[in-house]
Amino acid sequence: MSDSLDLPRRGLMFILSSPSGAGKTTIARKLLAAEPDLLSMSVSVTTRPKREGEVEGKDYYFTESEEFDAMVEEDAFLEWAEVFGNKYGTPRAQIMDGLNEGRDFLFDVDWQGAQQLSQRAGDDVVSVFLLPPSIAELDRRLHGRGTDSEEVIQGRMARALDEISHWDAYNYVVINDDIEVCFTKVRDILHSERLRRHRQTGLIEFTRTLKALES
Ligand code: ADP
Ligand code: 5GP
Repeated sequence: MSDSLDLPRRGLMFILSSPSGAGKTTIARKLLAAEPDLLSMSVSVTTRPKREGEVEGKDYYFTESEEFDAMVEEDAFLEWAEVFGNKYGTPRAQIMDGLNEGRDFLFDVDWQGAQQLSQRAGDDVVSVFLLPPSIAELDRRLHGRGTDSEEVIQGRMARALDEISHWDAYNYVVINDDIEVCFTKVRDILHSERLRRHRQTGLIEFTRTLKALES
């Protein structure tokens, strides 16, 4: 919902993390669908070869290793990591330009990514951690999703316990019991954070016009 009196504002970096299976992808999709104009997924740069069906600039920016290393040298990434032999990074300029234009970015990262982004981008970051209502339900969701073998599910369950232990590094924690209730809470967080005074960059000018009318 937009308001004709919306003032210029700085966008925010909205981090969603959760143990695998707790519902991060589901909530992220719902948020992106509900906020198509203001919120978009952050697009990373990677050295991984493009998979069939992937689109340059939508899924990733695909690049050569030398070019990626040069970007690291230039401090062009807000954060980067090597995963399974390929490098992935969040391009700083693209995010900063978008934030200046009042656009918000969604980050689907683990606790280490969340920690790095929070350290590097401080005031621009809002982090939300989703918890499952119980371990038994997490197990049920991982089985119910039907995308992984039993062995992979066991690995995800073991890692989930480690991931859960980092809950206290986040700004907000939401238990994903009922999907619609959880989605509403997460969207409320996004809407409230947009109203933070330091993000409403148009306030100085706006309050000046109010004062001018007063005299
Ligand atoms: P993640 O991205 O955190 O690994 P997903 O979003 O893929 O998790 O969710 C895992 C499975 O659980 C999916 O099949 C999804 O449809 C289901 N799911 C997500 N949230 C809920 C919920 N609140 N209640 C029941 N099932 C859910
Ligand atoms: P995939 O190659 O399957 O698309 O992604 C492999 C892994 O890289 C996933 O765990 C994904 O979260 C991680 N990844 C993707 N982009 C980035 C990024 O910009 N930074 C970091 N740290 N990890 C990323």
